[in-house]
Amino acid sequence: MGNRTNFPIAIIGAGFAGIGAAIQLKKAGIQSFTIFERASEIGGTWRDNTYPGAACDVPSHVYSLSFEQNPNWSRRYATSSEIQEYLLGVVDKHELRERMRLDTEIVEARFDEKSGSWFLTTNESETFTARAVIAGVGGLVDPSYPNIAGLDQFEGEMMHTARWNHDVDLRDKRVAVIGTGASAVQVVPSIAPIVAMLSIFQRTPAWVVGKFDALYPNWLRRFLARVPFFLRASRFVKYWTSELRGPIVFFNSRILSRIGVALSMWNLRRQVKDPMLRRRLTPNFQFGCKRVLVSDDYWASFERENVDLVTDSIEGIESKGIRTKDGSLHEADAIVLATGFKLGLATAPFPIIGRQGRTLDEAWAGGAVAYKGMTVAGFPNWFIMMGPNTGPGHTSVLVYTEAQISHALQAITKLMAENLKYMDIRQDVQDRYNAGIQKRMKHMVWGGCKSWYLNEDGSNHSLYPGFAAEYVLRTRKLRSEDYEIAAL
Ligand code: NAP
Repeated sequence: MGNRTNFPIAIIGAGFAGIGAAIQLKKAGIQSFTIFERASEIGGTWRDNTYPGAACDVPSHVYSLSFEQNPNWSRRYATSSEIQEYLLGVVDKHELRERMRLDTEIVEARFDEKSGSWFLTTNESETFTARAVIAGVGGLVDPSYPNIAGLDQFEGEMMHTARWNHDVDLRDKRVAVIGTGASAVQVVPSIAPIVAMLSIFQRTPAWVVGKFDALYPNWLRRFLARVPFFLRASRFVKYWTSELRGPIVFFNSRILSRIGVALSMWNLRRQVKDPMLRRRLTPNFQFGCKRVLVSDDYWASFERENVDLVTDSIEGIESKGIRTKDGSLHEADAIVLATGFKLGLATAPFPIIGRQGRTLDEAWAGGAVAYKGMTVAGFPNWFIMMGPNTGPGHTSVLVYTEAQISHALQAITKLMAENLKYMDIRQDVQDRYNAGIQKRMKHMVWGGCKSWYLNEDGSNHSLYPGFAAEYVLRTRKLRSEDYEIAAL
């Protein structure tokens, strides 16, 4: 292979993607990488989301790195803190800290065509040179604060689920939760038993299916540690179960949707006795159109005396609470914003300037597009993790991430081995790929309602329209002929 030390690689972000990429680079004998992380600690989503009840909604045996399987998950769906501990352990095991620059935010990246290098500028105005960049900055990172009048007028405590303030004690307080998405279904049942009063402001009810979470007994964990074959088998079974259920979640098929609706309605009936309440909690959009939520106790929370479902739309926030359009003031001591995230995978995370001075935002003005979700024409040697159209609606995102890591690794190995200046995906190949994705999108269920999956114009540049297994197969082999290749 070419000169390994003269090929500096930047990994941006120390979440699952960045850590996974670093491990695989190391395993391939490539040591010349640096991980840049803007926060003071690794972990991404699992460092940031510490709200009560925060947990994975995909079984942990699949929601973990296949090359770092963990026999010790304490339960089927690990909590956020357990996942963070797992990531910390993996980082230590692979001695990644010495390659890490924490508290270092990349604020600009500029490609130099002459040298085939990316110049990365940090928030401290330092510049790093990288011959290849693996961008693992995450898709759902920065909290989205709702555009509600008077948000700053509230005199009580206010916090977003993704920025939980653990100094605030909600015990015996009147709490309002705005939003009923994946974060809300976890936080609501976790705080309902301790607060005096919980008002949940629902704009759109969600489809929720049973989670069937369970603790893994010690003997099973010991057994899985001793016989890794069964750990792999467990992963295999859980992965294929989610894949095979996928069509119910992503295909625009009335018949398949009915299966999902039946599962969800069963879940609703077993948790809520009151038919009126059930009606108010029942969605009126097609199953799968928004992310299907997973919980055994979210709906049951509304049966509690201290929990109130508010379906009147919000007029504004005032010093003492939330005013709804019917004129009522819902007084609260604290407001929890479970209002989701800004969609990071559809925009450049910071100015990224490619060949001929074109920025990534300019390239993505008509919607984020990347070949196989990873490479963008005009931005050579730049590999995106969890990029456009690579999100799953039905299974572990890490299956896609690992495929991306492997693809990037193949390209980097080729660049190094053949002493190449750069590999730039051909525009015609990228356009053809995207046309295929968007054509398939027409058969998917996501166009029928409003969600974070969609851009303002209704186009979908976030989810992958198909099975994870198909994506993995499709990305398995680097097709050099798809790239414009320049020698040094
Ligand atoms: P979300 O799914 O985007 O839900 C946001 C909620 O806030 C929705 O119910 C939305 O209502 C509501 N909302 C937003 N603005 C509002 C406003 N101005 N007034 C009233 N309601 C408003 O956000 P999320 O629950 O944080 O989840 C985001 C994604 O993160 C998920 O889809 C999932 O991919 C991921 N996630 C995963 C897990 C996990 O367990 N692995 C946990 C949490 C999150 P509308 O529906 O009407 O827009």
